[in-house]
Amino acid sequence: MSAKLQTPIDYLKGVGPNRADLLRKELGIHTYQDLINLFPNRYIDRTRYYKINQLQRSNADVQIIGKITAFKEVAQKRGKRLVATFQDDTGTMELVWFRGQKWIRDSLKLNKPYVIFGKTNWFSGKFSMPHPDIEELEVHKGNLRSAMQPIYPSTEKLSNRGITNRVVSKIMQQLFLETGKKFTETLSENLLAELKLISKSEALFNVHFPMSPELLSKAQFRLKFEELFYIQLQLIIKNLTQKSKIKGFPFEKVGNYFNTFFKTHLPFELTGAQKRVLKEIRADLGSNAQMNRLLQGDVGSGKTIVAFMSMLIALDNGFQACLMAPTEILSVQHYNGLLELCNKLNIRIKKLTGSTKTSERKEIHESLENGDLQVLVGTHALLEDKVKFKNLGLAIIDEQHRFGVAQRSKLWKKNTSPPHILVMTATPIPRTLAMSVYGDLDISIIDELPPGRQSIKTVHRYDKNRLNVFKFIRDEIAKGRQIYIVYPLIQENEKMDYKDLMDGYESIARDFPMPDYQISIVHGKMKPADKDYEMQRFIKGETQIMVATTVIEVGVNVPNASVMIIESAERFGLSQLHQLRGRVGRGAEQSYCILMTGHKLSNDSKTRLETMARTSDGFEIAEVDLRLRGPGDIMGTQQSGVLNLKIADIIKDNDILKLARHHAKNILKNDATLSSIDNKAILDTYKSLGKYKNIWNYIS
Ligand code: ADP
Ligand code: MG
Repeated sequence: MSAKLQTPIDYLKGVGPNRADLLRKELGIHTYQDLINLFPNRYIDRTRYYKINQLQRSNADVQIIGKITAFKEVAQKRGKRLVATFQDDTGTMELVWFRGQKWIRDSLKLNKPYVIFGKTNWFSGKFSMPHPDIEELEVHKGNLRSAMQPIYPSTEKLSNRGITNRVVSKIMQQLFLETGKKFTETLSENLLAELKLISKSEALFNVHFPMSPELLSKAQFRLKFEELFYIQLQLIIKNLTQKSKIKGFPFEKVGNYFNTFFKTHLPFELTGAQKRVLKEIRADLGSNAQMNRLLQGDVGSGKTIVAFMSMLIALDNGFQACLMAPTEILSVQHYNGLLELCNKLNIRIKKLTGSTKTSERKEIHESLENGDLQVLVGTHALLEDKVKFKNLGLAIIDEQHRFGVAQRSKLWKKNTSPPHILVMTATPIPRTLAMSVYGDLDISIIDELPPGRQSIKTVHRYDKNRLNVFKFIRDEIAKGRQIYIVYPLIQENEKMDYKDLMDGYESIARDFPMPDYQISIVHGKMKPADKDYEMQRFIKGETQIMVATTVIEVGVNVPNASVMIIESAERFGLSQLHQLRGRVGRGAEQSYCILMTGHKLSNDSKTRLETMARTSDGFEIAEVDLRLRGPGDIMGTQQSGVLNLKIADIIKDNDILKLARHHAKNILKNDATLSSIDNKAILDTYKSLGKYKNIWNYIS
């Protein structure tokens, strides 16, 4: 590694303290190295000039030759903006500045030929370009142009303070001058040869100063591969280390509890997928290594019974087990479900949540520590330090995406040696993403629903059709069915949403009056006991309608409920809609999901609604979700950090990701400690990874 690359960015010629400060704050660039890893978002052709009458309303970057014919100042809410009329031989447009107006005004001359460059907006029948890059035509002609000029990531503040793309390009040039364009190779000769990758130095140079389109794409490929390769390498090593270093408790036998349950109490035949997954789990539990397994299965695919039977294996081997769920409602429901099964087997089970009374809590703590209590079900309350087990053998986390990585690791420490861990999620994660986010876990998938499930009919209805929807509800209730009506409750908007919920409740209470109709209401502001009471009324069938916020999103299981109405459905994300829909279709009756929206819908909302109506395949929905939102927003991925990708795109570069994972696995298979001469560059790079938060801080 060139020592020079650790130099603070302030020292680079042309940067200085002010710019350095901005670069640090806006782009996180502290050192030469950070700057070199600022990869262009895209490249544009600056050999091409547009005429004003050729402009499209596409907001693309364009370059135009023309002159300024007039300036004017326009008052606006705060301050004023400077507007110049810019003209070529085909028409006129406007240039607009919101800042630095005096300097602009003084330095630009009327009727002098300029080249402007930037994004155009279409506004009130006119094209305009805010804060253009602007250069005198004479000067412009003297500069070399490339057909692939890099465009760097930027922020409003940077461009307002004069750190334009041109400036970034210039300091990048300076950096290459000062460092001599030589960078330490970070991949092995073998990999370079096998995949025909270009060298690190060549790649870095060409990504910033492409010599040709071919070299640019080679440079991008090499850097993307490298980025994904090291993420995968880290994840795989972590997984292998866990397996080899961390001794699990080998659950050697499958004993009485399991066998008795399987033979006499299993309420239904397991699906093929459930059997397969149980086998995978049994193999893990029986080996010497600690299990870290992710169980993915769509809503209603029957994960709970798999979890329970895994617990029985732990119990059979004399260990305790726990199940943690993200909400009180869900853990109560799990508890009630498991209680019934446990009673049949004489298993001692308790629940622990935020609302467990102190006296009971004490009892639980004691019986956990002396080993009397075999199974504990609950919420985050399980993570408290006071909760100590005698010998926790298996910890299960339901709806993993609601918990953070930190919480997962807290469970780890519940024992002298970490328990086996099974995390479950019903928010399917596209495989590519799973590889990166949960790459350190083994994955099991339940890809089959229990037999006899009818598919849920999903439709989109506008608010103006509400009367028809209400009539439909009445008919369904007359047939003995129950109905959910769900309102959004988004944190930022809590007050308004809460009002919407209450207004909605009142209007439903008017349309569905007592005593013919009984309505439950559940929302996050209620006390747990009240929530539970309302929930129970609905579960027992005493109420026909449940008005709620998304607190019922995960796990709630009321088989007689067959209609899910989602209000303001356009405000929900796809995975939430899918989760909510999963609350119905749990019984034998035909179920329905009705997505209510206002009239105005964005394109993304339309896509979401159409997707919901078209398919109930959670994996397909997850793929659409990923495309719409990008990986950064998918649940669980924010915490993972591995998605701070600098150059690769987890969706578009799927193939490179697979290639990288394949090679990372292969290399470790042949040389687990990376100690061969061939792998020295990889080992060095891998080692330096640990020192830095971001994987790109190691390079060069
Ligand atoms: P999820 O995977 O969403 O947690 P659950 O475990 O809550 O799903 O199961 C959903 C419903 O399906 C439950 O009522 C459960 O009893 C039932 N179920 C699970 N497995 C089977 C099966 N193999 N055959 C029939 N019903 C099943
Ligand atoms: Mg569940």
